[in-house]
Amino acid sequence: MAHGGARAQEFGHDAVIVCDNLLRVYQTDTVEVQALQGLDLLVHDREMVAIVGASGSGKSTLLQVLAGVDAATAGRARVAGHDLLGMTRRERVHYRRHVVGFVRQQSSRNLVPYLTAAQVVDLPQSFAGVPRRERRQRTEELFETLGVQHCTDLKPHQMSGGEQQRVAICVALANRPQVLLTDEPTGELDSASAQEVFAALRTANREWGTTVVIVTHDAGVSGQVARTVAIRDGRTSSEVLRSDGAEGVPGIAEEFAVMDRAGRVQVPREFREALALTHRVRLALTEDSIEIRSDRGGER
Ligand code: ADP
Repeated sequence: MAHGGARAQEFGHDAVIVCDNLLRVYQTDTVEVQALQGLDLLVHDREMVAIVGASGSGKSTLLQVLAGVDAATAGRARVAGHDLLGMTRRERVHYRRHVVGFVRQQSSRNLVPYLTAAQVVDLPQSFAGVPRRERRQRTEELFETLGVQHCTDLKPHQMSGGEQQRVAICVALANRPQVLLTDEPTGELDSASAQEVFAALRTANREWGTTVVIVTHDAGVSGQVARTVAIRDGRTSSEVLRSDGAEGVPGIAEEFAVMDRAGRVQVPREFREALALTHRVRLALTEDSIEIRSDRGGER
């Protein structure tokens, strides 16, 4: 393509999810809340990433922007080649139906009280015009792969919380989206059910190559995924990468600070407090590191 060269220079050109300086401001009569404050994030194809952060840090806002449910105020958000800030209504419908699957926080909002699991997974396929036989095959494949065949003819109130969430994941995956977005998928579950839900997400990631994004306030999730991104005050602040361990042995986790494209790095509070660093610091470049020192002492 003629513009291929220029494209290759773009931030995150090879990523499935690109958030570039994303801003979301909620404006009410009296106050303005900056839920996302220039957030940068790249997620690559077939990655499984957890996004963690305290309540109010902007996780749900980010997920809703990526799901095409909410619109950012400024910046750039692109998912699987779709520019989320410039989508028409029609494109948005296609995007939500085919490109991303979204599992909401409350399992009750993902299912329909009077529909069985088979009926509710059939729904998005039916909207997409998939022939009946193919729909049935896809539903069976999903139930079998995620271990909820026994729920086929059950309604939500007849299933456990973990089963409801796994059926909700089947609904979200029904039309084979490239990206699966989940908001606190294990928030209301005991730890055994939570493990089953994580296993289902990992299976989707592995079996179908779905890129999976899990939003949670539970920092312990980093043991479940290879990459955990922490959000603080509407920005990505640090990442934990975990290498694959041998069978049954957890991999080694390493924490990194995130540097944005302007070179900004957030210094953790414990570090700032230990040296009583305030708004001004001294930076020095050594052979293979950068030192940050207090601005007190040695002043002329
Ligand atoms: P998290 O998911 O990490 O708990 P949210 O994305 O829900 O964080 O919220 C981020 C910030 O935006 C919070 O300060 C929250 O109060 C605010 N916020 C979220 N939704 C709205 C809204 N619809 N109107 C006004 N403020 C909102």
